[in-house]
Amino acid sequence: MRGSERITSVPGVGDKTAAEFARLGIHTLMDMVLLAPRGYDDRREERRLRDTSQEDPSISCRITILSHSEFPSRRGMTLKVSAEDDDGTGLDLLCFNRPFLKGQLRIGSSWYIAATVQRYRGRYSTAAFEIKKTREEAGIGRILPVYPLSGELTEKIMRRASSYALSALSPLPDELPYHLYEKLSLMHHADAYREIHYPSSMEAAAEAKRTLSFTELLVLELEALRDKAPRKSIRSAPTERERSVMRALPFSLTSDQLKCLDEIRMDLDSPSPMSRLLQGDVGSGKTLVAWLSAVHMIDQGGQVAFMAPTELLARQHAEGAAELLSPFGVRIAFLTGSVKGEGRKLLLRSLREGTTDLIVGTHALFSEDVEFRNLRYAIIDEQHRFGVQQRDALKNKGIEPNVLSMSATPIPRTLALTLFADLDVSTIRTMPSGRIPIRTYLVREDSREKMFASISVEFRRGHQAYFVYPRIDDEGESDLKDVTTMHEELKRIFPGVPSALIHSKLPEDEKMGILRAFREKRISYLVATSVVEVGIDIPDATCMVIEHADRFGLAALHQLRGRVGRSSLPSYCFLVFGRSLSEDAKARLRVMHDTTDGFRIAEKDLEIRGPGEMAGDRQSGFLRLRFASITETPELVEAARSEAERIISEDRGLIKAENAVLRKALG
Ligand code: ADP
Ligand code: MG
Repeated sequence: MRGSERITSVPGVGDKTAAEFARLGIHTLMDMVLLAPRGYDDRREERRLRDTSQEDPSISCRITILSHSEFPSRRGMTLKVSAEDDDGTGLDLLCFNRPFLKGQLRIGSSWYIAATVQRYRGRYSTAAFEIKKTREEAGIGRILPVYPLSGELTEKIMRRASSYALSALSPLPDELPYHLYEKLSLMHHADAYREIHYPSSMEAAAEAKRTLSFTELLVLELEALRDKAPRKSIRSAPTERERSVMRALPFSLTSDQLKCLDEIRMDLDSPSPMSRLLQGDVGSGKTLVAWLSAVHMIDQGGQVAFMAPTELLARQHAEGAAELLSPFGVRIAFLTGSVKGEGRKLLLRSLREGTTDLIVGTHALFSEDVEFRNLRYAIIDEQHRFGVQQRDALKNKGIEPNVLSMSATPIPRTLALTLFADLDVSTIRTMPSGRIPIRTYLVREDSREKMFASISVEFRRGHQAYFVYPRIDDEGESDLKDVTTMHEELKRIFPGVPSALIHSKLPEDEKMGILRAFREKRISYLVATSVVEVGIDIPDATCMVIEHADRFGLAALHQLRGRVGRSSLPSYCFLVFGRSLSEDAKARLRVMHDTTDGFRIAEKDLEIRGPGEMAGDRQSGFLRLRFASITETPELVEAARSEAERIISEDRGLIKAENAVLRKALG
């Protein structure tokens, strides 16, 4: 295969240049073919000087040389060649490091130039130009690729390498089953690779990109699906006890909650282990779905572990679970690192012997000394906080239970499909009815009086508030100083209103004490660093003030705002910002002001930050995407997923002749 031939076979590319290519990840000719241009230089139309503008200062046209002179520059005397285009507009070529041009660009001769020009005092000049004897050599009449560069590499060398690689490897074989080209109107790969580098039109470039993007998305989806155990759809009914719990609720489940429960139940009843992501906005009722599905598992004789990211949350969940499920005979225990001594011993024994059905805790659940009699189901709350490692910890214990990850940071569907290709996704899209949307105000730092006045009114009504300060250096001294100063200021503004400071350096039981006092309304407001971000549920808290809101990411802002609006009371979120805002910060605040829909916010987040950043732990897959951009083409992601599902269901081993090309791509 010539594809694996080294890049040094390109004429003029020696070992030194090859080292620069290597930095771009290009070692072979095929690597060069797979390098996506970052843009194009469209030289189809002749562009003369008077066609240039601020936005597009490029020319590609014929010029005639008029005179030679020299001018002093930092690099000594430099050659200046004056010329004019066919309109007679003048242009100075500043020939830094190219004194030899004096001999070539003889007065009166004509040349073809491609250049980016500057205009100064009505006169055009350029230091970045390519100049050739013929139109063809100058690339005029063509669209040329613009590649990412490294070190000494120039576009000229890159183009030489890509042209060489394309013709050396031509014709490049198809990479998809034959019928897909027609079905999805794709370009055959031989054409697609040529068109992505040297497009015949911008439309053809877009078509080529579509084909190559689809191909890599399909391979990504296939890789993930191939390793996932097949599952038969079994229709499974809720158990008697599940029904009883549901009947006892003061409300009925939303249709999304019911749908998600069905999906989870089906997985739990199937012989292969579940890996499912349950996503839904803050307060959409995921936890309830988790408890009901836990009951389902317990009724099959399995044990269930529910893991929360912090001790605070774990405790809150344990209390919630006990309130909901103990009356129905579910045996619940609570375990964190701080459960020690005799209590811990007893608890561990009950897990070993199977007299505890449901254990709620932190990651301590998966420490060495914890053994289960029959752990069948692990539920992981706020999965973006821990993710993959915990799953592996479970597997290392030799258990492969069903896993449900819950996330209140919604992920746009396209991202979920690629990022979590190995997970099934259940989504709670609609909120329980009767919620009043939170009103969000953007407040300038130096005009907070009105905000304080409205919060005073809320206090008089017996409502509560959070004041959140950003964490700057992982809650070191300076953060504490900042929240402390703020607390002092607030005490002056709201004299006699009971309050407390809460931050992550406080001991757990002190934090719990403060939260209990807040819940029991002995405290009216909390001043906090972002410890209140996840999961805390206080119904009478109606005001959320976020200081330096511009320093928070969208996901965090959305989470924080979700701490209010948790009852039928009208709630308010105040985003306080300083003077100089970056464009991204402005965009984030605008999004927060305009919508409370977590899925919209997630989509915006994806636009602002890009998939790599958003994906965090799981981003490795994206680093491999060369052509596809999931923000631009959600429909392509969908198409790739559904084709991958079809292919895997028909031919899991990819042994059919038509799928041979895919088998090869998957290695
Ligand atoms: P999440 O875990 O998705 O953030 P929670 O499970 O904490 O949401 O639910 C928030 C609140 O809504 C809880 O007090 C819960 O009891 C309540 N809730 C859940 N489902 C419903 C429903 N279908 N109708 C009304 N309230 C509900
Ligand atoms: Mg929750």
